Formats: sequence, structure tokens, C-alpha cells
Amino acid sequence: MNQQIIIKIFEKFKQNNPNPKSELSAPNDYTFCISVLLSAQTTDKSVNKVTEELFKIADTPEKILGIGEDKLKNYIKSLGFFNVKAKNIMLLSKFLVEKYQSNIPNKREELEKLPGIGRKSANVILNRIFNFNFIGVDTHVLRVSNRIGLTTCETPMKVEQDLIKIVPIEFHKNASDWLVLHGRYVCVARKPKCSECFLKEFCKFATSSNL
Ligand code: SF4
Repeated sequence: MNQQIIIKIFEKFKQNNPNPKSELSAPNDYTFCISVLLSAQTTDKSVNKVTEELFKIADTPEKILGIGEDKLKNYIKSLGFFNVKAKNIMLLSKFLVEKYQSNIPNKREELEKLPGIGRKSANVILNRIFNFNFIGVDTHVLRVSNRIGLTTCETPMKVEQDLIKIVPIEFHKNASDWLVLHGRYVCVARKPKCSECFLKEFCKFATSSNL
């Protein structure tokens, strides 16, 4: 895709939403990491619903360890894979207390060693908490980037590499949030709302479908 068009696309994103925010509600860095971990295979809305109560009583690794795995499971049982997620949260919290004085590490290799945190989650955490220019690729980012024509790759790792290469650096910080929100509300999986999309004049999917 032509670089001028890519710039126009991201200028449109910026114009439409200058400061995109993650929709996960979290009162501090630790709870943000926990919310990111919980959001695997589920919506931010469902995560916020359970964490609203959980974080009232436990918003630090020590407090989560204090309530114990069974009580934690009770709070998050409406989420998919809650057994595994609860186990990972306990291990991750223990790790943070023992190795990082309860702080969140700011290096990808260290984050990816935390139970339940993969590359995408590490990117989201580094981007949101530490202001690094990483682009997390989830299912929305993957789908929207392909439809627009920013990439033709099908794996999150390759899409991430393409986006890092072609998206101008000044847009890296917000690129993932813009693409996620666009995929969540406009460029939805089954029936993208192309007629109301501010990218339709640049989008490969829209132009090739003659909308
Ligand atoms: S024009 Fe359609 S396919 Fe392209 S980004 Fe917008 S909603 Fe998605």
C-alpha cells in the first residue's frame, strides 16, 4: 500500500479519536495487567464486570495472594477459562512479589515469562503502562489490518512486523487501540459497517467490493 495512503488512514484515525483508551477498567498498573490476562478469549466488558468487585478487595499482588485461588475463582467464574486464568494470576502475583518487589517489569522478555502473558499482552502492557511504541495484535487488529490492506499476513507476529514497518512511528503508540476499537464497533467481523466507515475511500475491502 502506498505510504501516502497509510499516512492518510492514520490521520483519519487520529482525527476521529485523538486519544484512544483501552476499554479495560483498572485502577493501577498491576490491575491493568490482570485485566489484560483475563481478557484473553473474552470481551473487555465481561472482564470489567468481574474486576469491578474483585479490585475493590484485591488490587495488589499481595492482596490477590491473600484472598487465595478459590476465592479468586469465585469472582471470575463467569469468564471463559477461569480455572487456568486464576491459576496464572496466582503464579504471576507470586512472581511479581518475589522477583520484582510487586512492580511490573518493563521488558518484553521479562513480561513474557509471567504466567498468562504472551506477546500480544506484553505489547499492550508495554504500550499502555510504559509508553513504548509496541503494537499489540489481537483478532481485531489482524482482521482490520488485512481488510484495509495494511498487510496480507495471517499470523499476529507477521502482522505486527508489517505494521511496525509501514505505520509511521508517530502513530505507533495508538495504532493498536485504534484498530481494536475500529474492529469492535465499525469493521466488525461478520458484517463490517463500510457505508458509515471513515476509511472507506482508502480501504481495499471496501473499494474492491464497490461499496
Ligand atoms: S471500509 Fe469496511 S472493511 Fe474497510 S475498514 Fe471500514 S468497515 Fe472495515
